[in-house]
Amino acid sequence: MLSDTFGRRIEYLRLSVTDRCDFRCFYCLPRSHRAFETPDDWLTTDEVERLIAQFAALGVKHVRLTGGEPLVRKELEDIARRIAALQGIEELSLSTNASRLSQFAGPLSDAGVTRLNISLDSLNEKKFKTITGSRLQPVLEGIASAQAAGLTPIKLNMVIMRGINDDEVESMIEYCMERGLTLRFIETMPVGQGGLSASEHYMPLSEIEARLKKRYKLQPAAMRGSGPARYFQIEDSDLVIGFITPQSQHFCATCNRVRVSVTGDLHLCLGQEDKLALRPLIREGATDADIQAAIHSAIARKPERHHFGETPTAIIRPMSALGG
Ligand code: SAM
Ligand code: SF4
Repeated sequence: MLSDTFGRRIEYLRLSVTDRCDFRCFYCLPRSHRAFETPDDWLTTDEVERLIAQFAALGVKHVRLTGGEPLVRKELEDIARRIAALQGIEELSLSTNASRLSQFAGPLSDAGVTRLNISLDSLNEKKFKTITGSRLQPVLEGIASAQAAGLTPIKLNMVIMRGINDDEVESMIEYCMERGLTLRFIETMPVGQGGLSASEHYMPLSEIEARLKKRYKLQPAAMRGSGPARYFQIEDSDLVIGFITPQSQHFCATCNRVRVSVTGDLHLCLGQEDKLALRPLIREGATDADIQAAIHSAIARKPERHHFGETPTAIIRPMSALGG
């Protein structure tokens, strides 16, 4: 089993299958970003399967496919199918911007993906374009396709930015209520150049919570696989809303996850730079036992917490490199 020096059990792996994306959300992947990984350095499907099997052997039960935008990786369906079939993997989920879900929701569900997180920051076409550089309509169609394919529950993630979309919280609540979606609000994080430029729009979610409590009765709620979010049910409705507050109230003490980049770097914390390159081990003929030992020793270095508040300029890589 994988435990770090602070007694945290690591059972959750976020796997970035690409650092590329068909969107350019300004807080994540600025248009000026050019330093993408080259395809020769990406883990192949076989390498992904072998590596995730090592994590599964060490007790990882839940894998989330992320990116960049995972649906731009051509082999995604095959990757999903192989991970879902690994012994020990109990859950395979996906984070996506939904722009290509109309085409892929059914095949991904068949491949073994069971749960979806979808980013949606605005229901206003113009504002959506300003935030993402892309079109809203395919995303709305993608959400409907995912529901039709039975990929539920779906959690919508909305990054809250003062002066940009904080006025849309109530309309997003209506949208989710009507469709049986879970809604989660996220504070901006100073990760990469995009994250830093979003900092000027940072808004502590306590403000949104206080505003919503004037309008709705919020009952604390539990949710499976809840991770870092605090959940509430809106009284007299089925809607559950979540607050993810990495800045104002960090949740590092209960962190149960690590991340692997498209090139096979094992990152120990989203808000720190320490990492271990696993691809050279795989390509240079390491045994399964060697790889597992390397993972073990890296986890022992997992930092206690991020330092977004103290050193907000520390993380240079864009959020799209590790997928949040
Ligand atoms: N492309 C997929 C998507 O958008 O869901 C997966 C990758 S994306 C990097 C994962 C999550 O990170 C999204 O919910 C996105 O909104 C969030 N994210 C990206 N940059 C962020 C930032 N600077 N602060 C807070 N959340 C951020
Ligand atoms: Fe792409 Fe997701 Fe980043 Fe937006 S948040 S640029 S959709 S990776």
